[in-house]
Amino acid sequence: MGNGIFANVIVDIAHEKVDKPFQYKIPEHLLGILEVGQAVEIPFGKGDTLRKGYVVDISDVPEFPVEKMKEISGIAVGDVAVEDTMIKLAYFIKQRYGSTMYTALKTVLPARQKKKNLEKREILRKLPVEEIRELRYESARKHYTGKARLLEELEKEEILPEDLLKQKLHISPTTIKTLEKQGVIEIKTISFYRNPVKVDAQMEAGKALNEEQQHVFSSIQKDMSYGLHKTYLIRGVTGSGKTEVYMALIESCIAAGKQAIMLIPEIALTYQTVMRFYKRFGDRVSVMNSTLSAGEKYDQCMRAKNGDIDIIIGPRSALFTPFPKVGLVIIDEEHESSYKSETMPKYHAREVAEELCKLHGASLVLGSATPSLDSYYRATHGEYTLFTMEKRATGGMLPTVTIADMREELRSGNRSAFSRVLQEKIADRLEKGQQVMLFLNRRGYAGFVSCRSCGEAMKCPHCDVALSQHVGGKLMCHYCGYEAPMPKMCPKCGSKYIMGFRAGTQQVEQKLHEMYPKARILRMDGDTTKTKDSYDQILSAFAGKEADILLGTQMIVKGHDFPDVTLVGALMADMSLYAGDYRAAERTFDLLTQAAGRAGRGTTPGEVVIQTYKPDHYAIVHAADQNYLSFYEEEALYRELGHYPPAGHMMAVLLMDYDEKEVEEKADRLAEVASKGKVAILGPGEASLSKLQDMYRRVFYIKAYELPEILQAKDRMEAYWNVEENRGNCQVSFDLDPLQSY
Ligand code: ADP
Ligand code: ZN
Ligand code: ZN
Repeated sequence: MGNGIFANVIVDIAHEKVDKPFQYKIPEHLLGILEVGQAVEIPFGKGDTLRKGYVVDISDVPEFPVEKMKEISGIAVGDVAVEDTMIKLAYFIKQRYGSTMYTALKTVLPARQKKKNLEKREILRKLPVEEIRELRYESARKHYTGKARLLEELEKEEILPEDLLKQKLHISPTTIKTLEKQGVIEIKTISFYRNPVKVDAQMEAGKALNEEQQHVFSSIQKDMSYGLHKTYLIRGVTGSGKTEVYMALIESCIAAGKQAIMLIPEIALTYQTVMRFYKRFGDRVSVMNSTLSAGEKYDQCMRAKNGDIDIIIGPRSALFTPFPKVGLVIIDEEHESSYKSETMPKYHAREVAEELCKLHGASLVLGSATPSLDSYYRATHGEYTLFTMEKRATGGMLPTVTIADMREELRSGNRSAFSRVLQEKIADRLEKGQQVMLFLNRRGYAGFVSCRSCGEAMKCPHCDVALSQHVGGKLMCHYCGYEAPMPKMCPKCGSKYIMGFRAGTQQVEQKLHEMYPKARILRMDGDTTKTKDSYDQILSAFAGKEADILLGTQMIVKGHDFPDVTLVGALMADMSLYAGDYRAAERTFDLLTQAAGRAGRGTTPGEVVIQTYKPDHYAIVHAADQNYLSFYEEEALYRELGHYPPAGHMMAVLLMDYDEKEVEEKADRLAEVASKGKVAILGPGEASLSKLQDMYRRVFYIKAYELPEILQAKDRMEAYWNVEENRGNCQVSFDLDPLQSY
């Protein structure tokens, strides 16, 4: 990190915006020693007053004449500010995911607010009561009535709110100022931070942990007490009591005088979840989510920094809460893709959390019923410590699952979107007055093509991922750009029933109305949930039994409990298998196990029907069995064979330009720059979304076994791209180990 003779320093990051960096010379005694993120003292402004600043970059390239450049005075001593850690974290993000230091800093530092904090001022008595009394007599003699009134109050109270003085006692600001100057009183400003948790809850103690829970808790706690800071993965079925373990760990972290960060996907951050933590920890807990105003978010950061709270709960950005001493980070539902940022820098909260924990000397706990392949892979390779919780803390049964083979349906003349077995079961539930959830899998709708007779999808011969249909009908690979014409018949079985799938929720709803005219149906998709309110309304209407069937996209499968749902149908379960990226099977397995988990939450056992053209595909088979380990084994093998993450690394490079020719040329150039050493380049090719808002999009992928190879390629690309004539008007974005296809 310490190479270079010039340092870019930002001055006083406590201002509204992160300031633009200024370049300084590094003094001789700090050459090779100074690091990015370090606090330094620098001469600043006309008078060269010494200010504190932070090093954000070190380089060999002067940005203006060296004669005019000032020199860093030295390393700032004294308090290690929270900011030091945040800047180191920003540097990590910049290096790993590719972005400017400025963008990375904006990601980790809370948005500064111009708006003043809610605050009140108080007047403190500074002299003994007797002296105050003397002063009062004197003031009264001199007819300083206002002063006398104030002193009279001060004889009675040591602290007076300023409002009271101004509004009730009508004492002028000048009087107050004079007394302050004379050392009679002190004026103190107290800030009130807005607390988004506005409830008065009955406090509750934790539950006595069962044996499984106790084992996990005490193993981690023992490490923590020995000062060992590791990453742990808890694979525990839903309801196995993971949250109870998290809370016990948080409790011991706080008892050790440290703070805890608890990440939960925004969609699972419900009132019930928050209340559970609030009842246990009271107002030492705060919540961060997207419905908070910028002012409220900023206040949470200030409360954290000032030690007013010990625990923050929130989605991935809660990771950047500026706690002075983080002892524990927990990531629940760690497999959720929402932990990855979709905008630059495209960081993954799990990886950034690992770095944060390293910087603070904190422990990281990951939990999920279906861990991400990445985490489980690391756990089985000894990087993470693995715990398994198999039993439900409160009992409860797993649903029974039926697989409906849609090829069979076609052969028997049923061409509708509903298998006969699902039709019968829906009718049965409607008759019994029980509720049904129908999940229409639309992930990866990008236009894959498959044979409805044998289930075969058209795949790339080089990448083992599904091809997708582009304008004009040609088939393309998202990774390598391989192209093939749309076949007239299935290359495997010769059937002519080969086509793309594009059924929407609306058509399915229409069909349901025709089949079950009396059924009350709610539809939940992107169109019916434009606002957060409409989303909540649909869910509460269904919970209130105002409808018999809830039809929706993947939105309906995440974490909502409806005790009267006894049947869940997964329509087009295969859809997500053909998203054209290496995570398609994992995503499918997740969606189907979660969908299955919606059935039978109450006392009646639930049933699940999975409709598929690929009844033998391992993602479908193991989801139906709810067998994570078997799925994991096959999927890990696939990743290893294809060198896909986590058995290797990959970076998607997306280029966008209004000019089609330009973007093609720039993509070719940049791919050339990237391709050196032990990296493989796939593409460039048209992105699956080949044009967006009038910008043409091209993508290529870099693959390598080792992360440093990828990062070096990224550094080469960044250096090339920093030259203006190389980039022109073209925009580029990097995505390390992407979770989506481009
Ligand atoms: P998870 O986070 O794994 O889904 P929870 O911690 O939410 O599981 O626990 C599921 C349910 O079981 C909750 O209602 C919780 O209160 C209850 N529970 C958890 N642990 C215990 C325990 N040791 N004794 C009694 N009930 C428990
Ligand atoms: Zn076929
Ligand atoms: Zn390919």
